[in-house]
Amino acid sequence: MEEIIKDVAGILVKSKYAVALTGAGVSTESGIPDFRGPSGIWTKNPEAEKMQYEIYGKFLYDPKSYWIDVINEGRIFGNLEKALPNPSHYALVEMERMNILKCIITQNIDNLHQKAGSKNVIDIHGNAFKLRCINCGKVYQRNEFDITKIINEGKIPTCRKCSFPLKLDVVYFNEPIPREVYKQSLQQVLECDVMIVAGTSAEVYPAAEFPRIAKNKSNPAIIIEINAEPTSLTEEGVSDYFIQGKTGKILPEIVDEIKKVIQ
Ligand code: NAD
Ligand code: ZN
Repeated sequence: MEEIIKDVAGILVKSKYAVALTGAGVSTESGIPDFRGPSGIWTKNPEAEKMQYEIYGKFLYDPKSYWIDVINEGRIFGNLEKALPNPSHYALVEMERMNILKCIITQNIDNLHQKAGSKNVIDIHGNAFKLRCINCGKVYQRNEFDITKIINEGKIPTCRKCSFPLKLDVVYFNEPIPREVYKQSLQQVLECDVMIVAGTSAEVYPAAEFPRIAKNKSNPAIIIEINAEPTSLTEEGVSDYFIQGKTGKILPEIVDEIKKVIQ
């Protein structure tokens, strides 16, 4: 284990453009459950998975009842406002400050990378603290609207530019990823020479495609996967390095090794 951490640290120090793809696993140590891990929301309650697939349709068909659900049962992840970053997030902040990590593409909606201090973060599945207009694309901070008051008045939050009903910025299943966000993510994937893939089951597309694209391009990136358990990336040989364990332990260990190399 120590050897692999050293190897990976050396690769990151030599890298020209390292990026990270993160998933729900980097936030479980902040008390936010994942979907597919052993204590995941869906592992424990398969019905919850079906419901996730219906949310976007509900928004399109009946935005008012969508918002009532968001207010009443919107806390499937617990109280995201109170969640705090964990050592996984802080280790990635350190790598960015060392100018090693150039960008984080996160599938998480919890804002914890930003809360920890990471600057270049792409929320490929949106952000629970924002609202978005699916008509014109305008994004708002959630606290620009008093949503509970608006709903209690029998209304729904609407776009100030085009009056279309607003939804949470979170990208639901069956909902397209905003084109610009996808484009920016793909640019990073095409540019990187090293990709850290941390705490993702790599089952949700198109994000799950990113390590595969990075590995298969004409100048292949080195894929470093960190997960509590092997994934399809491990099994299909996409990952050049697989480090099994908690990201909150492994990522800080990598940072410590990097410091030894560069100091
Ligand atoms: P996932 O639930 O499918 O997979 C999580 C992976 O992380 C699993 O492979 C699990 O073994 C691993 N894991 C869990 N805890 C870990 C830890 N401490 N250290 C290392 N590995 C750990 O999550 P996903 O791949 O991100 O896909 C789920 C989708 O649901 C995402 O698109 C995301 O938008 C959304 N989601 C977000 C959050 C959040 O914002 N925190 C939480 C749950 C789900
Ligand atoms: Zn609009």
